Amino acid sequence: MTQQGKTVAVVGGGYGGAALVKALDEHADVVLIEPKDAFVHAAGSLRALTQPEEWAERMFYPYDGFLKRGKHLREYASGVDDKGVVLASGERVEADYIVLATGTGYPYPAKTRTDSTEEALAHFKETHAELAGAARVLIAGAGPVGLELAGEIKAVWPEKQITIVDPAEELMPGYEAALRTELHAQLEKLGIEVRLGVTLDDEPAVEPGRAGAVAVTAENEPIEADIWFRAFGMTTNSGYLKDGIAPLNRRGQLPVTPKLNVEGHEHVYAIGDLTDMNEEKRASAAGQHAAVVAANILAQINGEAPEQEYQPSPVRVAIVPLGPEFGVGQMPSEDGPVQLPIESVIEWKGRDLMTGYFDAAFRLAPAQ
Ligand SMILES: Cc1cc2nc3c(=O)[nH]c(=O)nc-3n(C[C@H](O)[C@H](O)[C@H](O)COP(=O)(O)OP(=O)(O)OC[C@H]3O[C@@H](n4cnc5c(N)ncnc54)[C@H](O)[C@@H]3O)c2cc1C
Repeated sequence: MTQQGKTVAVVGGGYGGAALVKALDEHADVVLIEPKDAFVHAAGSLRALTQPEEWAERMFYPYDGFLKRGKHLREYASGVDDKGVVLASGERVEADYIVLATGTGYPYPAKTRTDSTEEALAHFKETHAELAGAARVLIAGAGPVGLELAGEIKAVWPEKQITIVDPAEELMPGYEAALRTELHAQLEKLGIEVRLGVTLDDEPAVEPGRAGAVAVTAENEPIEADIWFRAFGMTTNSGYLKDGIAPLNRRGQLPVTPKLNVEGHEHVYAIGDLTDMNEEKRASAAGQHAAVVAANILAQINGEAPEQEYQPSPVRVAIVPLGPEFGVGQMPSEDGPVQLPIESVIEWKGRDLMTGYFDAAFRLAPAQ
């Protein structure tokens, strides 16, 4: 049974928020509060940078492609209480249910640095031109983003010299040793140099993503490059919740219950990277959170008790392509962590960056 006339305000239209507005659109009056003009499929951004002509537009899914009844307000939230959301413009949206899904920020190019698709496309093209002319690339940060960036660059320009530095002593800490062994073997095959346990003494004087003479030292060893990228520094987008609805943890994340309510608030939920859920921050988790919250809100709208609970995976999950033909991955199974064969990494993510899945979910017709 569905019942309309209840308002659900969803703050943030990333992986979690977009899935949620789509799920609830025909069951409630959905108001999406999101400054961007399109859902951004961030997992595609590194290939959008290295192959902008073919890939950049495919990362953007305009909200009007899948929000049929609901309203989209291109605004930032600046405050939230049990009954509604205050917008940066000063206006207020009253709501029966509120879902907070404002996620995380990563330095460009991993996530865009504008709320406009047109500007984001121009940024990718501009940085692509800077990168194209650079023979030596320095990447600071050897997490999944830094590794994927290196792989995408090598797929287009195998001759470029790439160095990745990271203060951590090992790659993908917390994952199975066999995954690390495979990862090192592939990086070596691709000719990507990884220097672990190394901290840059200073940040390069050149802006990241701009061609220029990069000259830094790491533990007194000189490193030179013609361009560098920052691939570390994820921040939770929760500044608007300070002094607000519940105390944030030291990472700026919001505490949630197993039903994904913000602690102490039966009509306010949080999903995705914003939450303090003890798991790797992933788009796949955000989508699963959205399904749980959609079911709980529907139950409440229909006068029933919300019963769905979210169980985080005890196994670390990741798929890290190194371009379209290489990469590693780990998934949970009944017997614990399972390392994905390279063919599965390619099939599940590397080849099409999951655009097949997101086209089916969020596009009226696949991009030409
Ligand atoms: C390069 C890269 C590759 C990745 N690959 C994968 C992968 O293969 N698989 C995987 O599972 N995960 C992957 N991730 C992680 C994934 O992107 C995140 O876990 C995911 O974005 C979290 O989704 P979310 O809905 O919580 O928030 P986000 O996707 O971060 O969306 C948050 C939204 O909130 C909006 N917002 C922010 N502040 C406000 C405000 N005050 N008011 C209103 N709106 C606001 C933002 O504009 C944004 O649209 C990748 C990340 C990167 C950067």
